[in-house]
Amino acid sequence: MKKRPSAQILCVGTELLLGNVLDTNSHTLSIGLAKLGINLYYRKTVGDNRGRLVSSIKQALGESDILILSGGMGSTVDDLTVECVAESLNKKLVLHEETLEKIKGYYAKKGTVMSQNNVKQAFVPEGAQVFQNRQGMAPCIIVETKTNTVIILPGPPRELEPLFFECVYPYLAEKYPPRPIVSKMIRMWGIAESKMDEMAQDLTSLENPTVAPYAKNGEAFLRISASADSEEKALELIKPVEDTIYSRFGDFIWTGENESFEGALVKALKKENKTISFAESLTGGLCAKRITDISGASEIMKMSVVTYSNEAKEKLLDVKKDTLDKFTCVSFECAEEMAEGIRRLSGADIGISTTGVAGPDTCDGNPVGLMYVGISTPEKNWSKKYFFPYENDREHVRLLSSSAALSEALFHLLKKS
Ligand code: AMP
Ligand code: MG
Repeated sequence: MKKRPSAQILCVGTELLLGNVLDTNSHTLSIGLAKLGINLYYRKTVGDNRGRLVSSIKQALGESDILILSGGMGSTVDDLTVECVAESLNKKLVLHEETLEKIKGYYAKKGTVMSQNNVKQAFVPEGAQVFQNRQGMAPCIIVETKTNTVIILPGPPRELEPLFFECVYPYLAEKYPPRPIVSKMIRMWGIAESKMDEMAQDLTSLENPTVAPYAKNGEAFLRISASADSEEKALELIKPVEDTIYSRFGDFIWTGENESFEGALVKALKKENKTISFAESLTGGLCAKRITDISGASEIMKMSVVTYSNEAKEKLLDVKKDTLDKFTCVSFECAEEMAEGIRRLSGADIGISTTGVAGPDTCDGNPVGLMYVGISTPEKNWSKKYFFPYENDREHVRLLSSSAALSEALFHLLKKS
């Protein structure tokens, strides 16, 4: 397989280093390069300084096939990009007549005198291709050498964006016909990212497809990405690796599709023709909110109660006083009784409960982050213990606790627990 070209973005401007202007151009260019299937290996920023700019350009030419520079193309003395590119490539600067005419025309139309500084913007490295800028004076300049493609774009985003997408993108697409990159995300619950990474070491060292581990909000993911001449061929490359991941991590996997817990749970309930209800303590209604955020939830969700006090747990859910006295409300026993209580009260097929300590204070000797999920079906009741030790992050404990509850329901429906 022919190697894909590599690219580097070099933004020029002291204002970027000082934090006066946010570098949005790198973001724009990154999106474009990803679409082209060009590997972006570096993004750098350098100030308006001749020495550092020349050395950054020279270094970039050794590191990457394509160098895209943004900024430093104005008419003032601190705008050095074009000169520094010419110096780094050992090329002379030559006057570009068409650009000069455009600048002259602009000032004539405005009725003002063009200063000598403005002529500077009409000089380009010898042999360069020039694309005119319809939003401003500085053009897009492309210089090809034996080893590199150097592309210079003006800094203002309203000029850079159209020039990139209208001129540079088609130029690069013709030179390097895009190869689609296809990705599949395998999403897991109940396994730590470090453990997943350890178990996938042979896979994360592959080159095409690549396998990358991620973790977010208690979930662990493996993303498989392949690049090939067509989408079909990329999927063919992905398939055996996907199969290996399923056989190795099957118990933890809840989807290989691009979907959320909530979406997957609603889908699974509909598929099994089952209804669900929640009795929530520390999650305070978050499970119900996440499910009812999904359109069509009314078909599968019966009710949800927030039973925060022990009294409410006893009154509404028939949790026994004995259970609360003996085990406290943060216990396997309480979680199961809550789940059964809500299932009976609502008449749903599945009852789910959450009880635990969101913090920042501990409760009845239970530490912050300890929580239980209770599950009740007509056949049996059971519960699971989780520990999310984020003492000063009540919101995070509650979010993870709601994910734990939704995942228990989902894994039950997927027949994985
Ligand atoms: P220049 O081509 O250096 O004259 O750029 C002119 C203006 O473009 C600067 O003053 C900034 O406001 C803006 N600019 C330059 N570089 C960037 C960048 N990387 N991202 C967003 N805006 C930029
Ligand atoms: Mg500048």
